[in-house]
Amino acid sequence: MNKVYMDFAATTFTSAEVLQSMLPYFTTEFGNAASQHGFGQSAERAVARAREQIATAIGAHPSEIYFTSGATEANNWIINGVVRRSASKRVLISAIEHPSIYETVAHLKREGFTVEYINVDRDGIISVSDLIHKLSKPCALVSVMTANNEVGTVQYINTISQICEQRGVPFHTDATQAIGSVYINVKEMSIDALSLSSHKLYGPKGIGALYVRNGLQVDKLLHGGHQERNRRGGTQNVPAIVGFGTAVEVAMRDSSVNNARVKQLREYMINQIETRIKNVTLNGHRTQRLPGNVNFSFKGIEGESILMMLDLAGIAVSTGSACSSGTLERSYVLEAMGVMPELNNGSIRFSIGRSTTKDEIDYTVGELESIVKRLRSMSPLKSS
Ligand code: PMP
Repeated sequence: MNKVYMDFAATTFTSAEVLQSMLPYFTTEFGNAASQHGFGQSAERAVARAREQIATAIGAHPSEIYFTSGATEANNWIINGVVRRSASKRVLISAIEHPSIYETVAHLKREGFTVEYINVDRDGIISVSDLIHKLSKPCALVSVMTANNEVGTVQYINTISQICEQRGVPFHTDATQAIGSVYINVKEMSIDALSLSSHKLYGPKGIGALYVRNGLQVDKLLHGGHQERNRRGGTQNVPAIVGFGTAVEVAMRDSSVNNARVKQLREYMINQIETRIKNVTLNGHRTQRLPGNVNFSFKGIEGESILMMLDLAGIAVSTGSACSSGTLERSYVLEAMGVMPELNNGSIRFSIGRSTTKDEIDYTVGELESIVKRLRSMSPLKSS
């Protein structure tokens, strides 16, 4: 076995079907979507089609979809665009949001805004009673991710959005990891804003979208041309937009077959790790989780060491805790979930995707078993 990619939550390859749909827009159909001539009109038709594909996937109207450079931009835009113009200077987010939300509100906090974090339980599920309690004071926006990128926990979004709606507080969800795996309908679920990214679902990198319910007031992001309904100026990246549209449509078309297969592999991998390796803890909710997410803590050893040794064996994984300049930085997501420091240092995320095979999982678990044994035999804690 040469190389095994187990990091589909970080990014995916661009599928052949997606790439094929993009190619004409680099060459023959290269027009600027804002131009009035035939070349421009053809490009604009392709952009309109992609907008419709994305709107359809989440139950929105195409006029509610704004293309961005990715979910980071979409998340920055919605937080700044809603909170800065609101009378209330208070924003609520879950304690396990992606850094593109976490750091955006941290910046607002430094400017004097009030930021509060909704508690999560040991599985990463947000506390409804804490949300209700924190909504007793005025609030500009609530942002809770549909599914967590690190531990894969999927929230009960419908419950959260209804609580916000009843109190008249706009609700945003970062659905970057969830799209294609979790059912989303923004109208049925009363979602006011939602962020997406293409490169997590076999589309190209550097393109994403923000859904904003018609009627929700959001400040404009980029001053310039009239693109994106005059809210985000700049020549549209037509090939990437087309690829994103195809990727979303394909994800919806194939979701039931793909998700069932990936979920079966996930259950197999979790079971193999739990039976073959001692002192492991599954992080995230056991069932209410993304089909392809497997996240474990290995007692007594550091995730960073496991990651590097797996990499030497040709296996690509990810760790929540990153070692920077000799000091071990723990995962704030696991910390918020109440994971003990000795387990927080040793977490590894394996993420399974469309091309993952059972053989790859067998190879990975085999390598993991011997790496964990070797590291534990060197560790002063000796908890093999
Ligand atoms: N939110 C979540 C939950 C993510 O997993 C990611 C990607 N790691 C992002 C936002 C950022 O997406 P992008 O790479 O498109 O900026």
